[in-house]
Amino acid sequence: MAARGLGSDSFGGYRARLVEDLRAKGIRDLAVLQAVGEVPRHLFVPDVLTHQAYDDTSLPIGHGQTISQPSTQALYLQALELSGRGRVLEIGTGSGYQAALLARLSPDVVTIERLGPLARVAKEALAAAGVRNVLVITGDGTIGWRPLAPYEAIVVAAAGPSVPAPLLDQLEDGGRLVAPVAQGRAQSLVRVTRRGETFEREDLGPVQFVPLIGRHGFPREAADEGKPRT
Ligand code: SAH
Repeated sequence: MAARGLGSDSFGGYRARLVEDLRAKGIRDLAVLQAVGEVPRHLFVPDVLTHQAYDDTSLPIGHGQTISQPSTQALYLQALELSGRGRVLEIGTGSGYQAALLARLSPDVVTIERLGPLARVAKEALAAAGVRNVLVITGDGTIGWRPLAPYEAIVVAAAGPSVPAPLLDQLEDGGRLVAPVAQGRAQSLVRVTRRGETFEREDLGPVQFVPLIGRHGFPREAADEGKPRT
């Protein structure tokens, strides 16, 4: 790994350029832009890809998974409209980068990853980046994490056939959930806002994510064997 620690590395100029890039692409939420400007993304990508860490692109992180494109993640975070006070749940830790961004926008973040080796590496990267308010859990995120529910916001970083029902159940009143939902080969980003027992749903446009695999997602064989997902 290259230089470590928040703000104590030589990548500040690259981060500033990425922030400008995101601004030019329409990200307006200042807290989100500030988080991108502060979190050392290079600690969350494989060493051989350090030189691409601040490009606005998704990158492979092993086990067939990817760290998402920063502009997509920023769009997500903006759509969550976080108050800065509530607890947030993330499904699909992957590299841990988005959890690190969330950790600058919320006092308390829970993130769930189904692949043990990725969860371990993410934990290490979060520690290296000095992030302390993220709880990393290994398991099936489609059932959520009831012990710490309800959540002000839930972000799903993998595309399932529908929004997992247990997650809607774990949203607080007024809470927001953002998730990619697959429709055949296409996917769209959906935002759900809870109003009592009513769930308002908005479509935020097309996206491209790896499959959400689990009890309320796709079956494991479909994705692990690379079969078409329909
Ligand atoms: N937010 C991540 C990118 C996530 S990629 C980042 O910033 O790097 C999506 C991740 O979701 C993958 O790591 C994949 O293993 C995980 N995933 C897929 N289905 C899951 C499930 N049911 N529960 C938890 N994680 C899941």
